[in-house]
Amino acid sequence: MTTRAWTIESGTALDVALEVLLRGPLSRAELARRLDLSQATLSRLTKPLVEQGLLIEGAARQDSAAGRPGQPLDVDASSHTFGGVTLTGEAAHIVLVDLRGTVLATQHVPLPSHHSAAVVEQVADTLDAIVRDHSDASRLAGIGVGLGGHAPDRSTVRVAPFLGWQDVPFGSMLAQATGLPCVVENDVAALTAAEHWFGGGRDVQRFALLTVGAGVGYGLVVDNRVVTHEDMGLGLVGHFPLDPNGPLCPEGHRGCARSMLTIESLTRQASLAHGRSINYDELMGLAVSGDPAARRLVDDAATGLGHLVAAVANLTMPERIVLSGEGVALATVGAEALHTAIAADRDPRASTLDIVVRPGDFSQWARGAAVVAIQDFVLRSR
Ligand SMILES: [Zn+2]
Repeated sequence: MTTRAWTIESGTALDVALEVLLRGPLSRAELARRLDLSQATLSRLTKPLVEQGLLIEGAARQDSAAGRPGQPLDVDASSHTFGGVTLTGEAAHIVLVDLRGTVLATQHVPLPSHHSAAVVEQVADTLDAIVRDHSDASRLAGIGVGLGGHAPDRSTVRVAPFLGWQDVPFGSMLAQATGLPCVVENDVAALTAAEHWFGGGRDVQRFALLTVGAGVGYGLVVDNRVVTHEDMGLGLVGHFPLDPNGPLCPEGHRGCARSMLTIESLTRQASLAHGRSINYDELMGLAVSGDPAARRLVDDAATGLGHLVAAVANLTMPERIVLSGEGVALATVGAEALHTAIAADRDPRASTLDIVVRPGDFSQWARGAAVVAIQDFVLRSR
C-alpha cells in the first residue's frame, strides 16, 4: 500500500518539499536561497524528508552559482500516480499522471447515461483498466474530478448543468467505488491550479486564465492562490459583453462572450454561412486558407477575445494571461485580430502583456483535475 498523503509536520519543511516538487531538482544552496533559510536550517529540515524517501538526492552536478559541486534534491515523480477525470455532458475524459502532473495515459469514454451511479462505475472501471495497462495500482494515490459546476465541499456536486446534477455526492461515491481519496472541483478552477503548479503560470504569483471551448472560463491566481468562489461553475464571464453587434446568446445578450467565442456558436454561424455543417477544425482551416466568410467570423471572434483579454488585464493587472481550452486555436488563427483588439483597449504606456497560449484539449482538462488530487495529497497534512 502506498502512502496516501505526504506527512510533513512543520510548515517550513513542507515549503522545502513543495519547492523541490515544483521547481526541482534544486541544490541545497539554491533551495536555502529561494526560501531565505540558513544552510544549517535547510539541512535539518531536509534530513528527515530524505530519510522518509519523500525527497531523493539526484546525481551530483556543478552548482555554478555556488561554484562548487551540489547534490541536488529532487522528488521521485514516478513514486505516486493520480487519476484525473473531466466530465462533459457526453463523455468522461480520464488521464493518469505522475506526481509532477506528467500525463502517462489518456482515455476518452462516452457516458452511458447521466445517472450518477452509472458514471461512477464507468469512471472507476476505465481508470482501473488504464492503471493496469500503464502503472502499478499500488502507486495510485488519489483521483481528481473536474466538471462544469460547483462542489463547495470538494465532494458533493451542488449543481452541474451539463449533467443535470443537483446535490450529487459524486466524490464519496467514487471514493467508495475505488477505495481512494477523491476530490471534486470546478473544471476551470482545476485547470487554473494545474497551470499554476505545472503549466503556463508556474513561475508567476499572479496570473489569469481564460478558456474558450464549450464555454468561456476565467480563473485567477493572486498571491500564489487560486481565487475560488461559490459562483464558480455559473460561467459568469460567459456573459461579459464584447460586441454590441454580435449574435445573441440563449439568455438574450447580444455579443456576450458565449455568443461570440464558444465552439458551438462559431460552428453554427460557419455552417449557416456555408450552407452545410462545418466543424471547428474545418472552420479554422478555412480561415487559414483565406475563405472570406470563415476569416471574417474568426477575426470577429478573435477581436472579441482580445477585448476580453484587455478587460481582464486592465481590471486585475496579472503578470501573465494564459489562454487555453479546446477552442484555443482561435487565439492563434486569429492572432492578428486578437492583438489589434488588445492594443485598442490598452493604454499605450501600459506594460506589454505577457500572453501564453497553452494546449486545451480534454486531456488537459482531465490533467487539471488530476493536479487537484496531487495538491490534496501533498497539502493534506497542512
Ligand atoms: Zn450571454
